Amino acid sequence: MVRVAFETLGCKVNQAESNMYEEQARQLNWQVVDYADVADIYVVNTCTVTNEADRQSGQVARQGRRRNPDALMVVTGCAVGNRANTTHWVSLEGERTLFVPNAAKEELLMAVQEHLQRETLPIGWDLPDPQLAGNTRGYLKITDGCNHACAYCIIPQMRGSVRSVTPDEVVRRVSRAVERGYRELVLTGIHLGSYGRDLRTTLDQLIPRILAETDLYRLRLSSLDCVNITPALLETWRQSPRLCPHFHIPLQSGTDEMLRSMRRFYNLQTYISTIERIKEALPEASLATDLIVGFPGETEELFEQTVQVIETLPFQQIHVFPFSARHNTPAAALPQQVPKAVKKERLHRVLELVEYKRHSWLQSWLGREVEVIVEHESKSLPYRRGLTAHCLPVRFSAPGAPSNELLRLRVTAISSDGLALEGIPCRGRGNSVASHPSERLASPNGAL
Ligand code: SF4
Repeated sequence: MVRVAFETLGCKVNQAESNMYEEQARQLNWQVVDYADVADIYVVNTCTVTNEADRQSGQVARQGRRRNPDALMVVTGCAVGNRANTTHWVSLEGERTLFVPNAAKEELLMAVQEHLQRETLPIGWDLPDPQLAGNTRGYLKITDGCNHACAYCIIPQMRGSVRSVTPDEVVRRVSRAVERGYRELVLTGIHLGSYGRDLRTTLDQLIPRILAETDLYRLRLSSLDCVNITPALLETWRQSPRLCPHFHIPLQSGTDEMLRSMRRFYNLQTYISTIERIKEALPEASLATDLIVGFPGETEELFEQTVQVIETLPFQQIHVFPFSARHNTPAAALPQQVPKAVKKERLHRVLELVEYKRHSWLQSWLGREVEVIVEHESKSLPYRRGLTAHCLPVRFSAPGAPSNELLRLRVTAISSDGLALEGIPCRGRGNSVASHPSERLASPNGAL
């Protein structure tokens, strides 16, 4: 039996694609083994969002090669398109390495099979069984590519323009995933908000269809830009507790000057009004954002303005990145690059704020009841884990609790590392009781 191992770096889209590859590999009767084990084929789904991600991608691939020098090494993802600009891949070039560019990613296993046997095989797109996948949340990629041209981003060059899965096919894949046992799915895409631009449809139409035509218990959307959160989409959110009240909306900078320079496609006022609309419709919605510090031209004054904006907005999570210039992007050629030490200092300043905001948010849940989907047991952890609809990780002790089941917990503490909540299972309480208004349960029978 062919042994195949997968390793995934970077975004949720890569994770969704790797899930799909694993499923395809099983359909081929290949044995999926851990990346740390000896395999006949190693597949590395790489990321190039930062220079460090590039370096790690090359390192992971070399580890596989060392583990079995005779293995076929398959490298795909964004780092493949950028490989001419780095030296990370030099030692891997050769007959036993297959570089699969993003444009051919969907046919990856077919290319591997052709390489091995000169045969072609049908492609299955369904998610693997949640037990086999080792994950109770399934990531479903519904769109690839991006039509925007943010000054710092190389992804449109790597992934091309928007290409979406048809609504009928998305509904079919969701139904199939539900049959396989998934209770929660995350819709992902390189630029999820652009879903359907190539098909004359939008998320506004797709999301109500998924909720109406499938029995999925929880639907989560990954990152969306503020301009994509339309009144119609927000109304669907307001009406359906099955749509997780968790929003990840990149801000990147809190000043119009920087947003223009980054070639973002919204201004600060549009962003703020979107947050206000969300809070009006769903007062307890959780909010996460992305921020770039030290973008070229970001003066101390502009940075301070951004800090004030993030202090004011009700974020519970902020993913902050120091600007890292990518080859072949307009931002790399901009004057007024910010010194590394200044970027580091700004990063720490924002991280302190992030910690404060997150802690206050976690505290607001103490004593409340929440519902989690229990994750698979990990031998290396002394506790079980689950995630709430608001994207709150909760740790608890429940020996023998089956994974992928719903469990109600009372929140008792914040974990000592400050990263999660701790809870105890509610005894004698039905799962239909929810004290937290936006943790209320919905009938998973297809109704909104
Ligand atoms: S929206 Fe901007 S940052 Fe996001 S993938 Fe497209 S170009 Fe890159």
